Amino acid sequence: MILENIEKIVANSVLPEAADVVIVGGGIAGVATALYLAEAGVKVVLCEKGQVGAEQSARNWGWVRQMGRDPIELPLTMRSLELWREIDARFGIDTGYRETGITYVCRTKAEIREFGAWAQHAAAAKMTSRLLDRKGLQEVLPGLSDRYSMGLYTPDDGRAEPWKAVPQMAKAAQRLGAVILENCAVRGIETTAGALSSVVTEKGVIRTDRALVAGGAWSRLFLGNLGINFPQLKLLGTVARIESAGQVPEMPVGGGDFAFRKRLDGGYTVAMRNANVAPITPDSFRLFAEFLPTLLTSWRELKLRVGSQFLTELNMPRRWALDAKTPFELIRTLDPQPYEPFNRKAIKTLAKVYSGFADARQTHSWAGMIDATPDAIPVIGEIPAISGLYLSSGYSGHGFGTGPGAGEMMAEILQGKLPQVSADPFRLGRFCTTKSKAP
Ligand SMILES: Cc1cc2nc3c(=O)[nH]c(=O)nc-3n(C[C@H](O)[C@H](O)[C@H](O)COP(=O)(O)OP(=O)(O)OC[C@H]3O[C@@H](n4cnc5c(N)ncnc54)[C@H](O)[C@@H]3O)c2cc1C
Repeated sequence: MILENIEKIVANSVLPEAADVVIVGGGIAGVATALYLAEAGVKVVLCEKGQVGAEQSARNWGWVRQMGRDPIELPLTMRSLELWREIDARFGIDTGYRETGITYVCRTKAEIREFGAWAQHAAAAKMTSRLLDRKGLQEVLPGLSDRYSMGLYTPDDGRAEPWKAVPQMAKAAQRLGAVILENCAVRGIETTAGALSSVVTEKGVIRTDRALVAGGAWSRLFLGNLGINFPQLKLLGTVARIESAGQVPEMPVGGGDFAFRKRLDGGYTVAMRNANVAPITPDSFRLFAEFLPTLLTSWRELKLRVGSQFLTELNMPRRWALDAKTPFELIRTLDPQPYEPFNRKAIKTLAKVYSGFADARQTHSWAGMIDATPDAIPVIGEIPAISGLYLSSGYSGHGFGTGPGAGEMMAEILQGKLPQVSADPFRLGRFCTTKSKAP
């Protein structure tokens, strides 16, 4: 990943002494919340340890997808799509959002069963998704290889440009009065009589009675220092950008072992679908029981790997004082190495899917650490153990599409309003323990 490709904002330079709400983390979860809070006139400060939108939120595929989501999450995802449709006009920005539709193509009996079952959820939720037979596939995706016999198509799904969507939202939030600080790690919080009273950053202290942790893959570490056990593991997702002179559709398409999306810069973002590296870390053992059911159902999609990540995390402090450097200041941007065999395989497969990809040439590759919860559903809401502390994290590989909806929901909760989409499925309390097992 070339970091200079990510659109930059002009960050604020002065740390305010006080705020209504302080947000920890400048990915889509934090920035979208800041945007809707600022629009509502709330005095919000967002602190990002590195560059806004430079971790998962810039590295993802850019799919804005309702299709295939857990039915529990569908109302939020559908609301999010409504917000994507209006976000550019509402805030005068350019996120690159396009309503292109998305199609999954199937070959195996298991895929056909899976998508058939999911189409029934879609019908119950009044979504536009529909199953396509071979003829229908050719109508929607002319030129697709005939190795695919069925597809699942959602005409109102879409795509956006990860390298600029979140910085654009951050700029809009600043115009509406939000203060956004970069290279400003949050070290922790201070409480008075059990309630949040301030947020401690590397640049000073901000008085506030409400703070949101939206730290992506770092949320577990941050909360661990407060004695809160947020069950979250990291998975390494690998992506490539390719160029190709052939004719390929505008809409993102995924099959069992490939995924592609046309980019606005003329290339394609490609990856192997359903394939991530699961680095074995000390947390893999600590959280083994919580994640075992997922491991049993998804092991085919995971490549377990013992590597340097184990030692990096073993040596990382899990408890720290607020007056010294924290792990967040040591790693400004999580920029892991891509696992190139996945890219090679995806590009090889693409040549069989579309003849237009026969001459495809890889120009870039990168990776991102996906943060996953045991049930692959995020947490959006209060942290019951500390009054005034909230969490929006654990997006489990689909937080880009859900981002605006999650931001709106979190902004409503932080203002004490009843969210227009129920936040009940996203409570932290669904996980059995809130006290850290850490010493
Ligand atoms: C390879 C890949 C492909 C994906 N594809 C898709 C897709 O097509 N569609 C989709 O919907 N989703 C996709 N996702 C998932 C999506 O990108 C994430 O779910 C989403 O970006 C998470 O946003 P976030 O704000 O929670 O985390 P992040 O974007 O990771 O942001 C968290 C931020 O918090 C900051 N931070 C952490 N701790 C601190 C601290 N103490 N102080 C200050 N700052 C801190 C970090 O520096 C970081 O910038 C993909 C992810 C990956 C990696």
